[in-house]
Amino acid sequence: MSQNRTPEDGCREDVRENAQAGANAPDSEFGFATRSIHSGYAPSANHDSASAPIYPSVAYALRSAEHGNALAGGEKRGFSYSRVANPTVDALEQRIAQLEGGIGAVAVGSGMAAVSFALLCAAEGGGRIISPTDLYGASVDAMDTFFPQFGIHTDFVDDINDLAEVESKIGPDTRAIFAETVANPSTEITDLKPLADLAHRYGIALIVDNTVPTPYLLRPIEFGADIVVHSTTKGISGHGNALGGVIVDAGNFDWTNGRFPHLTRKELVISDERNGVWHSFAEAFGNAAFIRRIRTKYVRTFGAVLSPFNAYLQMVGLETLPQRVRQEVATAKLIAQYLRGVDHIVRVNYSGLDDAPQRELVAQYLPQGVGTVLSFEVEGDESHVNRIVDGVKLFSYVPNIGDSRSLIVNPARITHREVPERYRLAAGVNDNLLRLSIGLEDPADLIADLDQAIAGAY
Ligand SMILES: *Cc1c(COP(=O)(O)O)cnc(C)c1O
Repeated sequence: MSQNRTPEDGCREDVRENAQAGANAPDSEFGFATRSIHSGYAPSANHDSASAPIYPSVAYALRSAEHGNALAGGEKRGFSYSRVANPTVDALEQRIAQLEGGIGAVAVGSGMAAVSFALLCAAEGGGRIISPTDLYGASVDAMDTFFPQFGIHTDFVDDINDLAEVESKIGPDTRAIFAETVANPSTEITDLKPLADLAHRYGIALIVDNTVPTPYLLRPIEFGADIVVHSTTKGISGHGNALGGVIVDAGNFDWTNGRFPHLTRKELVISDERNGVWHSFAEAFGNAAFIRRIRTKYVRTFGAVLSPFNAYLQMVGLETLPQRVRQEVATAKLIAQYLRGVDHIVRVNYSGLDDAPQRELVAQYLPQGVGTVLSFEVEGDESHVNRIVDGVKLFSYVPNIGDSRSLIVNPARITHREVPERYRLAAGVNDNLLRLSIGLEDPADLIADLDQAIAGAY
């Protein structure tokens, strides 16, 4: 673990992702649950405080002109300004990097900031992205209508697991393939390994949104993903009380292969103009070039920082991630099985069912379960869906997932409203669909609530 670090070790923002520094040595000799509680935080560097303190301070003492100059020049480690790095946020970043098996991570103010920054940082300067449309609604909207305003375009595919279709979209400007590891709300699973192999054959990065399974159920870097993003708002926080996002860098990708000129161009922000010393991100940070650019350009200039208060709540949430997810997955599977036998339900989408079409991918990637989200289609029309969401008493009707409370929502009207109909219907998000996120209540109470709401709707 990191308990033996000196105060200087827990510091300088630009050393954090610097592989040469070795500051983020893997805690891989410890199990996942142990890392969820201990990684990334050193009590000895924090007045021996057993749990990580919240540092609300905006700025950090530069101590002396000499120290300030060394800090600003990157020769010494230390915090200076919380828009760039903050000690509480740093502990969360290191912990998540350890859980995902990455060389570094940058936490941001929301999951959408993480998705947007990761995609823009790969494709900035006129690049293209390949992606399915079976995604979180705002991610589709960003790629379909908003990023094109900045000259970044997406080639959508019908099926991300159809390698021939994906390969047919690869062109000279393609920079990244993007997918959700387990899609929200269909729970369709992305076959990561062959997709990573295809991407790497062309020098393209594989970026995945791992929000739905959380790193407890799936660690995409083990299967070749280059960049992993999360909405930490969801399962990682686990209690519906703190927005956040994170970008994790596997540190395996060669950003100097010619497709990413912004990472090999000299940049003043990481150079020393007075002494005529100029660096590109790739020269200065090697395999950490991408995650360093995320911090130094995207977070520093767009400013979507994670508050230290939210970082603290997310670290508390992480401590029980394995236990929560284990129980929620067991209940989700039980409910999915149960719903298949309920009158008026025509279809249950949950890849974790024993006879699900993707069960082989489940065995390969998600042996401990696919997650806590499932969806189902009901008979009739939208009025029945409306009566069900109005009829539940225990489920909360809210647009969120990964909460300790169980949640229900009608995606077509709420979470996927901004997705064009042709994409929405292809992803199975029609007016008769309801999505559940299963929490920690007693399964029998949840089943009874769904039962009465569905029976009462017909
Ligand atoms: C919620 C969610 C997001 C967006 O996260 P926010 O924290 O709400 O910005 C992105 N991707 C997936 C899969 C999500 O479920």
